[in-house]
Amino acid sequence: MHTPDPRPDASAHAPSAPLLSGRGLTKAYGPTYALAGVDIDVRPGEAVAIMGASGSGKTTLLHVLAGIITPDAGTVTLQTRTGARLVNDLRESERSKLRREELGFVFQQGLLLPELTAVENVALPLMLAGHPREAAQAHAGQWLAALGLAGMEDRRIGQLSGGQAQRVAIARAQATGARVVFADEPTGALDSATSADVMTALLDATLRQGHALVVVTHDPQVAARCTRTIRLSDGRIVQGERTTAVAR
Ligand code: ADP
Ligand code: MG
Repeated sequence: MHTPDPRPDASAHAPSAPLLSGRGLTKAYGPTYALAGVDIDVRPGEAVAIMGASGSGKTTLLHVLAGIITPDAGTVTLQTRTGARLVNDLRESERSKLRREELGFVFQQGLLLPELTAVENVALPLMLAGHPREAAQAHAGQWLAALGLAGMEDRRIGQLSGGQAQRVAIARAQATGARVVFADEPTGALDSATSADVMTALLDATLRQGHALVVVTHDPQVAARCTRTIRLSDGRIVQGERTTAVAR
């Protein structure tokens, strides 16, 4: 398990080999290239904002990088606790285990289980990883407290505000020690003050530990909080990082 007492900026002196690398990523749906040859590296301590118009391929890129969908061509390499893994070569069952144990997810809504309490939601991935319930819940409680949710452990998700629910999602994404956290419009349903608070919590929980964050957003204020921004258009990176051409 991974404890929530972050040493200040563990990334500052760390070697900056990428935690996550995509090369030549291509994905077509019929005649449409959702991704048309994307290269991307994400290093420890980086928060990368992915921006671009609706339909430009942002969610597809996030899902390919996270091993949720496989690309038609190209490679995704993740540095795991046990070494580099070529994510797109793994079977679905292995990718599912990798997502559960090595990656964290904070989406706009819907990933928390409404029938479970805050502490049960955070403890769930730990229990799936084999930790006994009591230890998992104690650990989950520490993460909730670190995200300012002490006293709300036993509330169901529906009894929390939108911003509080997103903090539960952040706690859950970090409790297993995920070194790369993926967020798709994590503040899309929040007002601007709450959105700023949730971004602060998300950045604190990841970057200060030398972990990395990949965040899809439409919000320039969210992007401005990140360490860099890449912009997609028609499945290509048009700003922020090199894109390789593919025949189409
Ligand atoms: P964004 O997140 O930037 O709005 P997406 O990655 O969701 O963009 O989609 C990129 C393109 O791929 C769009 O043209 C979209 O319609 C298409 N697309 C995405 N997913 C699918 C799918 N499962 N089936 C068919 N087309 C899809
Ligand atoms: Mg999208």
